[in-house]
Amino acid sequence: MAFESLTDKLQNVFKNLRSKGRLTEADVKEAMKEVKRALLEADVNFRVVKSFVKTVTDRAIGQDVLTGLNPGQMVIKIVKEEMESLMGSEMTELVIKPGNEITVFLMAGLQGAGKTTTCAKIAGQLKKKGKKPLLVACDVYRPAAIKQLEVNGAKQGVPVFTMGDKQNPVDIAKASIEHARENDNNIVILDTAGRLHVDESMMEELQNIKANVDVTQTVLVVDAMTGQDAVNVAKTFEEKVGIDGVILTKLDGDTRGGAALSIRAVTGKPILYVGMGEKLEDLQQFYPDRMTSRILGMGDVFTLIEKAENAVDEEEARKLEQKLRKAEFGFDDFLSQMQQIKKMGGLTDILSMIPGVGSQLKNVDIDDGAMDSIEAIIYSMTPEERANPSILNPSRKKRIAAGAGVKLQDVNKLCKQFEQSRKMMKQMNGMMGKGGRRKGGF
Ligand code: GDP
Repeated sequence: MAFESLTDKLQNVFKNLRSKGRLTEADVKEAMKEVKRALLEADVNFRVVKSFVKTVTDRAIGQDVLTGLNPGQMVIKIVKEEMESLMGSEMTELVIKPGNEITVFLMAGLQGAGKTTTCAKIAGQLKKKGKKPLLVACDVYRPAAIKQLEVNGAKQGVPVFTMGDKQNPVDIAKASIEHARENDNNIVILDTAGRLHVDESMMEELQNIKANVDVTQTVLVVDAMTGQDAVNVAKTFEEKVGIDGVILTKLDGDTRGGAALSIRAVTGKPILYVGMGEKLEDLQQFYPDRMTSRILGMGDVFTLIEKAENAVDEEEARKLEQKLRKAEFGFDDFLSQMQQIKKMGGLTDILSMIPGVGSQLKNVDIDDGAMDSIEAIIYSMTPEERANPSILNPSRKKRIAAGAGVKLQDVNKLCKQFEQSRKMMKQMNGMMGKGGRRKGGF
């Protein structure tokens, strides 16, 4: 899980602070020493750590924090505020030109950073917002890159412009703008070539594209898991090419968090989005305040709500509510509830965003795969059995177990769980009364 060890360490420091009724200057300094160590171990840039710790210490000691009612909480509040400001305080959006003027995004980054995947992720999000994006394959060096963009573009329902691998990227970029104009696309996303390391020819190519095409924003894609290397890469790109913002990929696998916490302070450029997985929907807007809450182990309720809103179909939720009222809730409904949880990223992901739960999770073995075997069991039932689970006698259950390739006990267990949750839902429904539930399926 992202930031796991940093969150653990910071929470320990906070626990110590909270446990003390009064704080002395020495207590604060001691706590800040721990914070400093935790940040350095999380691979946060050394200079960033030094200035962060100094600012927090000065604020905590300088104000009336120590004599206040709840000094521990006040110090935590200062850490939270400063961490938000380190990452930019406000969410920064990609700049999009108004109306049908063509917006051009130049996407840059090293090979393997996740650039091609991210281009497709962004195209999908913009399409959802009613824009008409065009993906452009300017990576003429990596043989599979064009194909990869075409496959991902098709998955997103976004057109892909290519001219094969024999043309110059500048010519491709120029031609793509013409193509966009003719085909009514108002956003052009240029997927450029990466290299294994920062090199002159890559920088020159990007400079050339910028010199010949009216680029609206240059966006750098970096891999969070490379920690300070990602920060150094961002600094070099900013110096050589000039960037407007950064997309931090693979944050789902970054247990340390150093890049997320350093990039803004080192480069002066905001993080726009974060990649949270390989799937094309796994791209989240970057909110410094939400990210801070996650890092400090305070959960991220806003992202959770947004995920639920995206995953839940209101019409379906309304139908479900009626079924619950009439006690007609069957296995098909159970299945669709499970699919909504999956759409939200699986149980582990959801639970980790609930305040206080994230840090408890690492010792619990949540088996997202168990959902697959439940699905298999339900798919092995007849429509009648799904709608009316009370007809499931032992011989039917035996047939279902064989069909799903599971043990009879597994089917029995699911039936029992289903009955229990049906009972619980009926009770909850009763408690909420009429009109108690409007939105959301679970
Ligand atoms: P490119 O060379 O920069 O174009 O990189 P690709 O788009 O080909 O991505 C390299 C690998 O990283 C692929 O296997 C992607 O599926 C994976 N990847 C990209 N973004 C993410 C992310 O946010 N999380 C995870 N876990 N994997 C990602």
